[in-house]
Amino acid sequence: MPELPEVECVRRTLARRIVGRRVIDVEVRRAAVVRGKVTGRALLVGCVLEEPCRHGKHLALTTGGDGPCVGVHLGMTGSLCCEATEPADSGDKHVHVLWKLDNGSMMSFRDPRRFGGVWTFTTQEAMAAQRWSALGPDALTITPKTLARRFGSRRGAIKAVLLDQTLIAGLGNIYADELLFACGLSPMMPACRLTTDDHAKLTTAMRRILRRAIDAGGSSVRDYVDGHGRAGRYQRRHQVYGRAGLPCTVCGSTLAGNIIAGRTTVHCPRCQPLR
Ligand SMILES: [Zn+2]
Repeated sequence: MPELPEVECVRRTLARRIVGRRVIDVEVRRAAVVRGKVTGRALLVGCVLEEPCRHGKHLALTTGGDGPCVGVHLGMTGSLCCEATEPADSGDKHVHVLWKLDNGSMMSFRDPRRFGGVWTFTTQEAMAAQRWSALGPDALTITPKTLARRFGSRRGAIKAVLLDQTLIAGLGNIYADELLFACGLSPMMPACRLTTDDHAKLTTAMRRILRRAIDAGGSSVRDYVDGHGRAGRYQRRHQVYGRAGLPCTVCGSTLAGNIIAGRTTVHCPRCQPLR
């Protein structure tokens, strides 16, 4: 599932191909994936695209000022790609929305499992108020102080708290596990037991891991591709995610797999002891 680094990679690669382009036409092949008004204007026809925005795992196609805005969530298997010409397989039944740009290129929203979607808003401001306001601060920019304030009274397991998008936006199962391993913190530890040192350590490690993942083009675990249709490489550097039962890369102990907040959680019992 695309998390912050993957969505950021989509945003950056997409930006190179769409900024300054005018949307000529839109084809909605599956209306159910679009929430909000489904008109040409609402879907940006006639508008010039600006730099796309991101908050957590959410992406937005913006047109500046009072222009309309389209929010995109990639869900589990969604992708948003821009190609120079019509996609080779123009009958691909998983492509739900197709935008035609003024240089002939095509931007497509594809989502086989349909957990993602496209949301239309009258303006970027409306989108922020109606949709992004429910999200916590972005994981790439959150400060130790804010993290402490948001996690301080939570009795839930730190793993579950990291996944709660209303507390901190952008982390999913992959980066939460990698982050806790990097910090030597047990995923089972109640968030309220974190010390000031832990808050600082978490914030620093979070930025480092997320930035490295962005530089590596994100993690392609299943079918993630960036805005140019390319897979990421960060999955080769995962230390714990997807490695339950295998030896810890640091101490050699067998990595444990548990279910926390309904998600498979992998950690090293020796490097990440429960305090
Ligand atoms: Zn270990």
